[in-house]
Amino acid sequence: MLYTPDKVNLHTHSFYCKHGTGTIAEYVEQAKAEGLTLLGFSEHCPLPDREYQKGNRMDFPELPLYEADIRAAQTKEQSKYTTEIEEKEKKITILLGAECDWLPEEKSFYEELIQKRNYDYLCCSVHHMFDPVRGKEEFLGRFTTLPLGHLIEYVKLYTDALRSGIFTFGCHPDIFLAGYRRWDGDAIAASTDILQCAKQCGIPLEINDNGLRKRPITVEDGSTRQPYPVKEFWLLAKETGVKTVTNSDAHRPIDVAAHKRNAFAFAKENNLNLCSWELNSKGKLHIE
Ligand SMILES: [Zn+2]
Ligand SMILES: [Zn+2]
Repeated sequence: MLYTPDKVNLHTHSFYCKHGTGTIAEYVEQAKAEGLTLLGFSEHCPLPDREYQKGNRMDFPELPLYEADIRAAQTKEQSKYTTEIEEKEKKITILLGAECDWLPEEKSFYEELIQKRNYDYLCCSVHHMFDPVRGKEEFLGRFTTLPLGHLIEYVKLYTDALRSGIFTFGCHPDIFLAGYRRWDGDAIAASTDILQCAKQCGIPLEINDNGLRKRPITVEDGSTRQPYPVKEFWLLAKETGVKTVTNSDAHRPIDVAAHKRNAFAFAKENNLNLCSWELNSKGKLHIE
């Protein structure tokens, strides 16, 4: 079954992550009201013993609760429709996924999510870098001048994630530009490495709507822009021939289809093509 971009959101959080709100049921209801027919939950995957995750991610022991909650929502939606017409018109397919912070040492755990815990898909991201000034892991958006070493590290981690073969798509690949605030040769080289890797691996990258809902930032030349997505990055993506998708990255039920407004407009302005998704007969998700 083919799902066009206006029917899909595969980047959804909830109260489970502790920086989002809303129950699973509330997201499902809102998604249906907005005409979505494919809704993937991609809660930030908790990892044991990571200091930066404390209070900002679900606790590791809560993971089975999250999984059971999504599976229950799937069952409920599947059993809800009695006639074929009802099913065609209202049916929403729900997927169990997770957004995984890429850490090479967690590779086998992420594989286990797919192979043993039957996740429908996983998506990857890199959100944090060690900040030597503060002496701890910091969110990329908190850097106003991301050091070049961090830029290199970001590219290494992100491309390593893409090559792992575990992930269905890459989340907000250009989030590093929230901290690296100039479009210079190094930004272009970093972007090119990520984009060529995605192209080679055949993995779609995501224009993330959450960045469009954040406050604008001031960049090095004094102008302002959204922290991400960044126009120059996506024009390069188009040139490279990378498959592009968009998601809301909702942290409140009301935002579950926000990408249909902001990110669709961003794609249109920049002549970017958004790909559709397909679910094969085994329920496996892939890009058309
Ligand atoms: Zn989040
Ligand atoms: Zn994210």
